[in-house]
Amino acid sequence: MPLKQMHPTFQKMNVVSLSCRFCDNLVCQRGMKAILLADTKVELYSTDFQPQGAICSVGNEYSTANCKCMIQDTACLKCGNVVGYHVISACKPCLQSCNNGHYWMFHSSSVVGMERVDFTGSHVLLWSDLPSSMAEEERLLEDYYNSLEECCR
Ligand SMILES: [Zn+2]
Ligand SMILES: [Zn+2]
Repeated sequence: MPLKQMHPTFQKMNVVSLSCRFCDNLVCQRGMKAILLADTKVELYSTDFQPQGAICSVGNEYSTANCKCMIQDTACLKCGNVVGYHVISACKPCLQSCNNGHYWMFHSSSVVGMERVDFTGSHVLLWSDLPSSMAEEERLLEDYYNSLEECCR
């Protein structure tokens, strides 16, 4: 699936890693703090890929009172608590609004967001720094965790 170019506004957003509030499981390594146009009081994080082996979809599809998007809850695979939702099909107004192309959302009440830093440890990663494919991203993370282990020794 070719990724379309992300809007410059989103390129400048910080990358956050998200862990489950209930069990500390790392559920997403490339999260973005989302601004909900419909309800600014609700804080959300979003991501562009389904985090493999961390969350799964649960229950039936439904739509909220805000719009006609069809969504499905997602649960942490480790503890089973609902941590967010997946947009299965976006409604027209949502597609036409300035969106970041992210269809995997996390509730800030269910996950803890931590800003990711690059290898130097002092520069916060921006979305424009991220590789566009999951495979590259995994390689980057492997290096990152290897460097962490070295620090801990
Ligand atoms: Zn919608
Ligand atoms: Zn959990």
